[in-house]
Amino acid sequence: MAAGRLKALIVGAGIGGLTAALACHRRGIECEIYEQSATVGELGVGINILPDAVRELRDLGLLSRLDQAGVRTYELFYLSRLGQEVWHELRGTDAGHDVPQFSIHRGHLQAILHSAVRERLGENAVRTGQRLVAVEEQAGRVAAVFADRSGREAVRAEGDLLIGADGIRSAVRAALDPGEGDPLWNGAVLWRGTRDWASFLTGRSMLIAGGLQSKAVIYPVGPGETAATRLTNWAVIGVPERPSGRWLGDWSRAGHWDELRGFVEPFRIGPVDVLALTSGTPVYYEYPLCDRDPLPRWSHSRITLLGDAAHPCTRSGPTEPPRRSSTPAAWPTGWPSWVLRPGLPRTTKSGARRPRPSSCRTAGAGRKG
Ligand SMILES: Cc1cc2nc3c(=O)[nH]c(=O)nc-3n(C[C@H](O)[C@H](O)[C@H](O)COP(=O)(O)OP(=O)(O)OC[C@H]3O[C@@H](n4cnc5c(N)ncnc54)[C@H](O)[C@@H]3O)c2cc1C
Repeated sequence: MAAGRLKALIVGAGIGGLTAALACHRRGIECEIYEQSATVGELGVGINILPDAVRELRDLGLLSRLDQAGVRTYELFYLSRLGQEVWHELRGTDAGHDVPQFSIHRGHLQAILHSAVRERLGENAVRTGQRLVAVEEQAGRVAAVFADRSGREAVRAEGDLLIGADGIRSAVRAALDPGEGDPLWNGAVLWRGTRDWASFLTGRSMLIAGGLQSKAVIYPVGPGETAATRLTNWAVIGVPERPSGRWLGDWSRAGHWDELRGFVEPFRIGPVDVLALTSGTPVYYEYPLCDRDPLPRWSHSRITLLGDAAHPCTRSGPTEPPRRSSTPAAWPTGWPSWVLRPGLPRTTKSGARRPRPSSCRTAGAGRKG
């Protein structure tokens, strides 16, 4: 290490860890990245990167790579289960932001970040097969111990700071707060998959359909196998009858059609045949929608948390059945509060009356799904 140059140990080579490594490198901070998996694979399905996050990736010089792999999301429709329009809005640059919103396959995003890390920090910057098992501070330094896949303690690393980017079951967070235990589950499950599918609407449109029984989220995440198709992401959320026995925080667990089918069949939305899209997807996954309570602080001296290790959230858009109370924190996310609370005044800052949202018109006209 060059004299006077800070060195960061980053635990986890997911989206957060790789991005943190690029940001540290840009600021002249040396980094070592430790990942428990044997390889940095292209795992997951679709993910949305909103303008605040895209701005960071633009500043890291990654915009053109995102354009090659992903889709600049143009618009978002909220629909009822039977396809009635509840709400429609433009997104990203089409909504006036200085950068786009991207819909992209998580694995492709991870590959973009990983190749940039290899180019800028060196081929071996990510040390794979290294699972953090202990972390400690001593004499103005931080030390971390990693075990290999056999469970044997294999590596001890030292740095000036340590960033825990090791996801929702973070070992760094557990070391800082040993009593916290498992993530919290609200009882809903998110089934998710991607497949090549006919382009719908603008080819850059996102649909969120359904209500409190089940919800479907559908959007293209990349080029398709032909000019007329797109790599299309789908996610369906429902509350299954069999509530227990699920391992929380595992993104790679296969889903089962007998459990998913009942949540998919009621959908009749115009632009996409949800049953055909989901039933024909060869491999898809289930993820119990879990999160954790907020922490009073993410940083303790030379150790800090980032991403899901710091603030894992229930996915936006989906139904979130109230877990403990009907406080605002338990409301579905992604909805303007005045749609949920019709009693609030609907006037703009200038005092002009705000037009009634179309959700009210749909509800008034007898919502059918
Ligand atoms: C395999 C996988 C698939 C996912 N699929 C989706 C998806 O389809 N849609 C979606 O919206 N979100 C998905 N996510 C979650 C999404 O990536 C995160 O919510 C978000 O990007 C925040 O990223 P993060 O870096 O904080 O966490 P993550 O992306 O979860 O990355 C955490 C990384 O830390 C590593 N790690 C964990 N524990 C240790 C340890 N003790 N030592 C060393 N390394 C460790 C993990 O292997 C992982 O690579 C997925 C996450 C994973 C790991």
